Order: sequence, then C-alpha cells, then structure tokens
Amino acid sequence: MNTPDLKPLANHKNQAPTPDRADTSEQNMDNRELHISSRIPGFYELSIGERLAVVSSVAGLTDSERFHLGQFGSLNGELADVFIENAVGTFSLPLGVATNFVINGRDILVPMAVEESSVLAAASHGAKLARAGGGFKTSTTLPIMTGQVQLFLTSTCDFDTILNARKDELIAFANRGQDSLLARGGGAREIDWHYIPEMHSVVIHIHIDTREAMGANIVNTMCERVSTLMPGILPCEIGLRILTNLTEKRMAKAECLIPASAFDSPDYKGTDVVDRIEKAYLFAYYDVHRATTNNKGIMNGIDPILIATGNDWRAIEAGCHSWAARDGKYRPLATWRKTLHGDLHGSLEVPMAVGVVGGVTKLHPTARASLRLMGNPDASTLAQTIVATGLAQNLSALRALASEGIQRGHMSLHQKNLTLLQQHATSPRNSN
Ligand code: NDP
Repeated sequence: MNTPDLKPLANHKNQAPTPDRADTSEQNMDNRELHISSRIPGFYELSIGERLAVVSSVAGLTDSERFHLGQFGSLNGELADVFIENAVGTFSLPLGVATNFVINGRDILVPMAVEESSVLAAASHGAKLARAGGGFKTSTTLPIMTGQVQLFLTSTCDFDTILNARKDELIAFANRGQDSLLARGGGAREIDWHYIPEMHSVVIHIHIDTREAMGANIVNTMCERVSTLMPGILPCEIGLRILTNLTEKRMAKAECLIPASAFDSPDYKGTDVVDRIEKAYLFAYYDVHRATTNNKGIMNGIDPILIATGNDWRAIEAGCHSWAARDGKYRPLATWRKTLHGDLHGSLEVPMAVGVVGGVTKLHPTARASLRLMGNPDASTLAQTIVATGLAQNLSALRALASEGIQRGHMSLHQKNLTLLQQHATSPRNSN
C-alpha cells in the first residue's frame, strides 16, 4: 500500500517550476490587462446592486457585461442573497423536459437543467428504447445517511469493547433533541467504527435515517452532538465531525431489459448492436479512460435533474465517483449484459442522497415547479427517477457509440450552437 509522505511540504517559493503547466499570470483573458485587487473589505455586507457596481468597476466591465452578470430569472435578488454569500446575480441554464420515461409502470416527465446540446435528446431516446421492454424498474434503500466522528486516541485502549458496551447510549444521545425527525420516523439507527492505525485514530460512523431530506445538516448536527460525549468514553481528542458523501447505505437502483429488436435499423441488426453495447461496457470495465467518459455520460443524465430540483449535485457527483472506485479501480457505474435470449439488460445502482425538503428544494421556485412536473415525488421516488435517467443516458450514448458513432447525432444538434457562435464572433456589438 502507498502511504502518504507526512513530511512538511516544501515552501512554495522553494518548489521547482513545473514547465508543463501554463503560467496563468501571463495569460491575458479576453486580451485585457487586469490589474485588480480582490481584497474588498465588507463586500459581503453590501447590497446585491452595490456588489455588482463594485466588481464591475474593479474588473472594468462594460455596461453589457455588467447587465448580464446582474440578471435575475425566476430566482429574485432577495432569494439569491439568502441562498449564497456575495451574490451579484444569477446564472441561467436551459431547462428542458425529457420524455418517454416509464418507471415502475408509471409515465413521468423529467425536468433537466443543462447547457449541453443532445443531453435531453439522448435521455428521451434511451427512455424510448427502455420503454420497448416495459420501461425502468427502480428501487431505493432506506434514506440512511452516514456521519463520521474522528477521534485521536491519546492512549491505547480496547475501544472495540468500550464502544460495543456504549453503543445504545450513543445512539440515544444522537437522537436527543431530534424530536421532529423522530416523529417523522427518522433518527440515528446504528453506530459502527473502524481504526486508522497510521493516525492512531478511531472513526465512528453514525447511520441516520433523514427521511425526506438530503440530511447533511441533520447529520452534521448529530455528529457534533455525539462527539461531545466521546472524551468521557475513550481517551481521545476530537477530530473532524461531518457526513460522508459516499452514502453507500442510501442507494438507488434502476434496471431495464430491452429486446434486441428495439435496436434494429436499416443500417444495423439489433442483435449486433446488443453485442457491441456489451463490449462497450466491458471496454469501460477494463479501461479507466473509457470508464471516466462513460460515467460522465451517466452524470449527464443525473446532474441536470439534481440542478432542476435544487439538489446538491456536487454531493452526488462525489458519491458516485467514489462508488465507481470502490474495488480500488475506477469502473463504469452501469452494467450492460446480453441475456440468454439475446436481449440487453442494463443496471445502474449508485449512492443517491437527494431531498425534497431542505436545502433550496422548497425555496427555489423553479425547483418547486420541477418537482410538481414530476408529480411531487417523495425523496425515494425522486432518487429512482434520477438513476433511471442516468441509465437511459448511458444506453443512448452506448447505442450510438456501438453503431453509427456519437458525432452524427451530437453534431447535428450542436450545429445550432456553432452557428450562433459564428454569428456572435462576427457581430460588431460583441467585438470587445
Ligand atoms: P436542511 O437543514 O436545509 O433541511 C432539513 C430540515 O428539513 C430537517 O432538519 C427538518 O427540520 C426539515 N424537514 C421538514 N420536513 C422534513 C421531512 N419530511 N424529512 C426530513 N426533514 C424534514 O437540509 P439538509 O439537512 O437536508 O441538508 C442539505 C443541505 O446541506 C444542502 O443544501 C447541501 O448542499 C448542504 N450541505 C451539504 C454538505 C455535503 O454534502 N457534504 C455539507 C454541508 C451542507 P425540522 O425537523 O426542524 O422541521
């Protein structure tokens, strides 16, 4: 096993230059010399309009640039200022609706916020292929999140025996003060731990049912609470206390079975396409470069729904990629196999901690409307829809790659972007 070198890092000034890397100080973005100071005391206390004026002046923005930074769509300035610190405006993304989805026998419209052309077309196409086999079958585990409390042992002790004896007490203590969560049927369920010998550190995992919430704040609160008990239980100093985004106890799964005939086309026999999709999956299984792009395609289906519903897509990204590497090698997230009858079976199971309460899900008007479009799902149903869309996206990409190639469909849809870009470049208004 490679262990990290724990020697203090060299002073930045003493580090050798890295000739392969571009020196960004010499890059001149947009051909303008910028001599700015980013030290703006009290910036966070200004109003949105004042902040916009200050940064526009410091960065020398044109009126047009300033106008576009300070735009508000359905998210008004008041909400933007509540959601994040230092807000100056909002950033718009196209919001589309993917069609053809049948999940557990029910038709559903899937809202997706994304900037990339062909993503919605691919999701809808993948869902149409899956529909030929009855659609997606999906499920989730219970919404169990896991928090970590790290302890540094200050002397040797039999922590296994001690913690086993105090387990129930710790769970009860974690739940104290969580009356509303308990009333909803949630709360801390289990505690386990592992030891990191290199750090002489015991890491306690608290597994908590967070019901309809993603649960980061619930979990972090409970971890901090439990940590206060620990010095009375073990000889230790407290380390970090925070949830893990590798939510392996909060998983969502989607499967589909597609008849080979669904892939028949004038140019390709369906049975050949099935063979080639299976080989494409195996390529990703054995080759990390392919696996990475394969999983990017799956996240093309997952992230846009997370964004449209106000969920934390960074949390899901982190969890999915970590899950992809769980056996020590980064693997494709979905599997595709030919059945004994020659049809195609696909399966995707990933950590999927999403909420329909908490975060901005109930506050962002577009997130609310997106959830309404999906029939106001509970968190489990939302997770299932997301994972089905990730599988549909992967199916569509692999079908194209295994037959005519990805560029024909992608570029015909992307062409409108390129045309606009050319018009933009030649427009005198945009020459600055
Ligand atoms: P919130 O703290 O915003 O909301 C959760 C609260 O919603 C609960 O504590 C509960 O409060 C209330 N609630 C109402 N109805 C329900 C219900 N049916 N089930 C459960 N809770 C309910 O959000 P989360 O704890 O979900 O945390 C998510 C946020 O944390 C996201 O914005 C995320 O970006 C952020 N975050 C993520 C981190 C990470 O992923 N590493 C780290 C830190 C933050 P009450 O009981 O009082 O009604």
